[in-house]
Amino acid sequence: MILDAEIKAQLAQYLQLMENDIVLKVSAGDDQVSRDMLALVDELTTMSSKIKVEKTTLERTPSFSVNRIGEETGVVFAGVPLGHEFTSFVLALLQVSGRPPKVDQAVIEQIKNLKGTYRFETYVSLTCHNCPDVVQALNVMSVLNPNVSHTMIDGAAFKEEVEQKDVMAVPTVFLNGEPFASGRMSLEEILAKLGSTPDASTFGNKDPFDVLVIGGGPAGATAAIYAARKGIRTGIVAERFGGQILDTLGIENFISVKYTEGPKLAASLEEHVKHYNVDIMNLQRAKRLEKKELIEVELENGAILKSKAVIIATGARWRNLGVPGEAEFKNKGVAYCPHCDGPLFEGKHVAVIGGGNSGVEAAIDLAGIAKHVTVLEFAPELKADAVLQDRLYSLPNVTVIKNAQTKEITGTDKVNGITYIDRATGEEHHIELQGVFVQIGLVPNTEWLEGTVERNRFGEIIVDKRGATNVPGVFAAGDCTDSAYKQIIISMGSGATASLGAFDYLIRN
Ligand SMILES: Cc1cc2nc3c(=O)[nH]c(=O)nc-3n(C[C@H](O)[C@H](O)[C@H](O)COP(=O)(O)OP(=O)(O)OC[C@H]3O[C@@H](n4cnc5c(N)ncnc54)[C@H](O)[C@@H]3O)c2cc1C
Repeated sequence: MILDAEIKAQLAQYLQLMENDIVLKVSAGDDQVSRDMLALVDELTTMSSKIKVEKTTLERTPSFSVNRIGEETGVVFAGVPLGHEFTSFVLALLQVSGRPPKVDQAVIEQIKNLKGTYRFETYVSLTCHNCPDVVQALNVMSVLNPNVSHTMIDGAAFKEEVEQKDVMAVPTVFLNGEPFASGRMSLEEILAKLGSTPDASTFGNKDPFDVLVIGGGPAGATAAIYAARKGIRTGIVAERFGGQILDTLGIENFISVKYTEGPKLAASLEEHVKHYNVDIMNLQRAKRLEKKELIEVELENGAILKSKAVIIATGARWRNLGVPGEAEFKNKGVAYCPHCDGPLFEGKHVAVIGGGNSGVEAAIDLAGIAKHVTVLEFAPELKADAVLQDRLYSLPNVTVIKNAQTKEITGTDKVNGITYIDRATGEEHHIELQGVFVQIGLVPNTEWLEGTVERNRFGEIIVDKRGATNVPGVFAAGDCTDSAYKQIIISMGSGATASLGAFDYLIRN
């Protein structure tokens, strides 16, 4: 039995939601993955009479397509969609059967209006938590538009193909055989990349807001909810709604919830904000702020939004090493997300740069997959918590090098090594390896405020206890501020503080 009893019970409930018959067209061989795929398909047919199976030959073996009766939908799974892709598989069954996807009507129209032929292929790993969003988005597009097809490919089952196409990060998407994108993307982001965007000119004609929030992470979402609950006109501009939690796997310190996962929390945040009358402007980036009679925020698309008060919650992003080779080999051996890209380095030698908590956690994770992990720490000692260090040092395939200043990431078409300087002796060393995971902390997303809002030497916005900045009417919250600690719950708390601070300001001015 390929599915355990608990999953099977859940699946049975979902399968009852299927609206029409579907047919799985299966291309199988004699290998173990084919046998597992057939076992999965067989198990499904015993669970729903709406699922039919046909044998066929597809471009890849093992793979299967999910189709309406008498009509190819273009949704294909190559490999066995278990692990994180199981949900993608179940959703595909439901959506192909006629159950409408949970997508805004405007987005459905955008998809249906796509002209041309789009043959997408997405390389995933079954442990990648960023992959299902991309797979599910492209599957929805395939289901809704006959000109779009999408194949999910489990990299572990198609290793030769992965090597041949130099796929070194997941998800990696190819469109019509050419590299299209890498990393987590929402449906809206994919559509925007295809040149299909909602009309930007409408943004500039909006009435002024009472509170305009910039940033859609935990801090921004909280600030928007607090403002909207006061009954005032609230807007939120976010480059990527959800923020850093979209790249986070397990969360165990979001108090009152013992365990959740980042993308799940991001979806709940969005649902909560949407429950209120908040004007959400997703996939929009602010580039300038100016205090006039009202506060004006200019977006990258040229639109200018006006508001009586603004709350900046633009968070932070991974810090780059800034050495030669880092940018050139990004996604060609240089990676930032061990949970996502770790499985692609199975049996290989990788380095982790950074000996803080995130670096050491990454190294412990990677040691279970890679042949060898070398941790390079700039300082004379690791900075991670003692329990993590103990765990790290107990692993047989890990080497820790301290006092190491990374000089260059080397390679030809992909990473083949790293050069570092031993800061104690000044000697230069080179290690041959295939992957480098950069884990050296975060930088605040505040460059766009240069010359307007006061920041400290790290670029963090300086706020008072009400979240107010030095500019009257401009407040800030979360990881972009000088708060001592950067955590989800702390960002939410400061988002609430800034919003209440802004409301007080509006009453008094
Ligand atoms: C891998 C990882 C694991 C983590 N694990 C945990 C954990 O287990 N527990 C925990 O409590 N914390 C964890 N954290 C930290 C936590 O995710 C952050 O503290 C939190 O997300 C900060 O929220 P924020 O709203 O301030 O910023 P962010 O989450 O960074 O959100 C910023 C928002 O602003 C947007 N934005 C940025 N620039 C602009 C612009 N110019 N215009 C418009 N929008 C913009 C972004 O797109 C995003 O929507 C983790 C972080 C990482 C990276």
